[in-house]
Amino acid sequence: MIQRLALIGMGLIGGSLSLALKQRGLVQEVVGYSRQLQTRLRARELGIIDVPVDSVAEAVSGADVVFVATPVQAMAGVFQAMAGTLSPDALITDGGSVKGAVVTAAEHALSQDQFAQFVPGHPIAGTERSGPDAAFAELFVSHRVILTPTSANSAAMIRRAEDLWRSVGAQVEKMGVAHHDHILAATSHLPHVAAFSLVSALSRLEERYEVFRYAAGGFRDFSRIASSDPAMWRDICLTNRDELLPMLDHYLAELHQMRSLIDQRDSQGIEQMFVGAKAVRDALYRPIEPQSNSSDSGAESPRS
Ligand code: NAP
Repeated sequence: MIQRLALIGMGLIGGSLSLALKQRGLVQEVVGYSRQLQTRLRARELGIIDVPVDSVAEAVSGADVVFVATPVQAMAGVFQAMAGTLSPDALITDGGSVKGAVVTAAEHALSQDQFAQFVPGHPIAGTERSGPDAAFAELFVSHRVILTPTSANSAAMIRRAEDLWRSVGAQVEKMGVAHHDHILAATSHLPHVAAFSLVSALSRLEERYEVFRYAAGGFRDFSRIASSDPAMWRDICLTNRDELLPMLDHYLAELHQMRSLIDQRDSQGIEQMFVGAKAVRDALYRPIEPQSNSSDSGAESPRS
């Protein structure tokens, strides 16, 4: 049982973790901080937090678990602000979609002992909605959470982070920090960039009103994740730039190849590319998937 959870950021991810713990009776009290008073008050209204406070330092004071769920680039400031009041035995963990930048920020801001308390994490679950109103208690059930422990973490601290996520129904996996950022650049970050770019490109067409008017289900499916929070995705692109750029180049090369196949009226080449892609996707996912609620998961219904 968690006595006091400090929630820094109480949107979709932070709010959902708190609601999940509360619904299962696994937390005594949740103290929350986010920049805007109205967010904190709304989170209290929704039962996400019990006590809104005015600073990170106040939130983490006396907490046995600290969960950081702000956009990635805000995390450096959050770690700096918590260093003075952290309990020496508190578990610190986060939900950031990029791990390298977050680990570096924590290492700079925290003392050596405090850094050992930080077990980085990333829930592979989400939606394109954000803010406290988007949070729901079942978000993590049967979804993967990737922990990227550092060499500073003790086995006991890692186990506490694992237990935290398992207690809300998640499947925990562990991965190296750099490997996480490489894989997620492909499965999550690149698709979001592709979706944002496609919608942006179409919106610049002179005939855009007609284009969107006749947009069908395929466009809706492909573009859904372009409704995700722009600030969050800006942060992900900038903090995982080194992994994302080569993935983007790889994808651009594929687009160029497709362009040239179409240009050359290469019927066989086009069909071969589509056949290959369809086979991969059909092997990965069930053909009809009525509910797909993931923004950052990179998957709607993977075959097990
Ligand atoms: P969100 O719904 O937009 O919530 C972000 C929260 O952080 C809000 O409560 C916001 O409230 C607060 N915040 C923003 N800047 C802050 C700052 N400088 N200091 C303190 N609080 C701040 O975002 P989310 O979807 O929950 O994402 C949170 C984290 O989880 C991100 O790092 C994201 O990469 C990661 N993640 C997201 C998904 C997804 O699908 N959405 C999935 C997995 C992981 P105020 O505006 O009041 O500050």
